[in-house]
Order: sequence, then C-alpha cells, then structure tokens
Amino acid sequence: LTEHNMTDKLGRTIDYLRLSITSKCNLNCAYCKHSPSDGESMLTLAEIKRIVKLFEKSGIRKIRITGGEPLVSDDVFEIIKICKETDGIKDIALTTNGILLPDMANELKKAGLDRVNISIDSLNSGKYKQIARADSLTDALAGVDAAIEAGLTPVKINTVLMHDVNDDEIDDFILLAKDRDVQVRFIEYMPMGKEHDGRYISAEEVLSKRPHLKKCEETQETPGVETLYQIDGHKGKVGFITPVSRPFCEKCNRVRITADAKIRHCLGDNLETDLRQILEENDDDALMKIKAAIALKPERGFCSGFKTNRGMGNIGG
Ligand code: SAM
Repeated sequence: LTEHNMTDKLGRTIDYLRLSITSKCNLNCAYCKHSPSDGESMLTLAEIKRIVKLFEKSGIRKIRITGGEPLVSDDVFEIIKICKETDGIKDIALTTNGILLPDMANELKKAGLDRVNISIDSLNSGKYKQIARADSLTDALAGVDAAIEAGLTPVKINTVLMHDVNDDEIDDFILLAKDRDVQVRFIEYMPMGKEHDGRYISAEEVLSKRPHLKKCEETQETPGVETLYQIDGHKGKVGFITPVSRPFCEKCNRVRITADAKIRHCLGDNLETDLRQILEENDDDALMKIKAAIALKPERGFCSGFKTNRGMGNIGG
C-alpha cells in the first residue's frame, strides 16, 4: 500500500472520519429519528479493522467513533485499540450520550481514547426524560465528571437548541462551564427530513442577547467549524456550531461511514457508496476505490432543504 492524501474534486483535504460502530442506542431522543438496523447488515469488528487500516492509508488522521450510542457496542474498546495501534491516526474521539461513562471512562482512556463529546439537551430531569425518553440525566452529568477525571479532555458538551424545548435553559448550560473546564457547544438544530418545523434557533439569536460572551481567537483545531467564546470568570468556554446559519461546506474535511457499511459523503446529501463491495477487493484496489468515492463528495449539503433519507442516529451526527 502506498500512502496518500485524500482530496475531493474541489481540492478539499479529507482527513477526518466519523465512524458509526452501531445503530443501537440506549436512548430514543424524540428529534433524532433513529431506527436501529438489523444485525446482519452491521459492520463486523473484522470489517472495522480493515476500514481503519484502509482509510488511514487514504489519508485519514482523525477518527470520531459514533453511533447509535457507541458505548453500547461490545466492541468499543477493541475498536479504540485498533485506531490507537494505527500509526497515522493522531486523534481518537468519541461522541456519546455519556450515560455509561461513569463505569467506562477510565477503561476507554486506557484503550487509547483521547477525548469525548457528550450530548445533553436538558438539565431539567423531567424535560430530559421527555426528550431522551429515559430518566438518565443524573448518569449523563456523572459521565461529564467521569470523563474529566479520566482525562478524556477537552470534554465538550453538545446541546441541540430547540424553540419551546430547551431555549429557556441556555444560561443554565453556559453555567456548566463556570467551574468546569469544559466546552459547552450549542449546535443548530437541523430539521432532518423536513423543510422546517419552527424549532431551529440560530447562533446569532443566542449571541445577540448575550454580549458577555467574548469571541476567542480561532484555533487550528476546528478552523471555521465551531466558534468559541469565553466569559470573564468562567473556567470553560462556550461554542457554537452553525450548520444551518453558516454552513462550512467549503472547509469540510470529513467523510462518514454508517453502521450498515455505507460511505456517506456528506451529512446533508443522500449520496452513499456501498463499502462492502469495496471491501471485497484486495487492499490496493480497495484503496483506489475509496479514493475515487471520496472524490465524489458533493460541493454543498442540504441544497434542497433538509430532505435526507436518514435520521441523524442512522448517520452518526
Ligand atoms: N449517541 C451519541 C450521542 O448521543 O451523542 C452519538 C450519536 S447522536 C446521533 C450524535 C449527535 O447528533 C447528538 O449530539 C445529537 O444531539 C445530534 N443530533 C441528532 N439529531 C439532530 C438534528 N436534527 N440536528 C442537530 N443535531 C442532531
């Protein structure tokens, strides 16, 4: 195998893979439209091992493990180890609802995981239960502290803001960053599968009412994708991810693999490539086909509204 950078037809360097390792989830969030696929179509551990090797050879340097809920997969430790043992992979992150972190954080760190993003959409236990359909807020918050303890840092808390759901809790979320060194990141809600449903809140709307949020200098880590703010006296930071109001398609460096073995070129475009067919080839041919597939990445996502054929839980976020 020869090593290459992977670029698409627009010259964007693709070095970030979001790998969905299961479609199962221990929550059932109302807005996520997640439906677990049947077991047979799911990626096996052997397939994931080969995928990590081939995508690293194609130029991937950062892997985010996602799902479904990645921590319900029996293979999660092994998958992290595989990534860790793959030389070119410099950053291994995982996106989780955090519920299982109190028991798993230390072992995840030991396996080689660098950091976690934890999704929490309400700090009110009744409302959390309504959104996530499980009474698990206490566990998710304990998960945040367990992740900090275990050194899975910087810990990022992801909150999808929605009108009439959690827009009354914005300042409570910001307070999470007062005494904790975490990044609280507000993500613009994407009405997947619909045109609009009135829930979307723009970053601008939140910022215009909060002049005490002071913009930080852009870092190299996520140039153009998230904008970070600091507040006097706060240990942590507040971030905004703006796929709706300010899409970052021209800077997009990512490719996704779904738990049912499809290369998903773009979150907001239904183009997919069957990865199983590619995995039938020998390494050199498979590598060539992966690169050819990557080159097809659409210029922009969500061109015709949010008409995607999958909910977020079946893509991986
Ligand atoms: N189970 C893991 C978790 O809870 O983070 C990983 C999968 S989950 C699908 C990944 C992220 O997608 C979560 O932060 C979730 O809030 C976000 N998400 C789901 N539907 C969304 C939507 N319509 N718009 C924006 N974000 C969404």
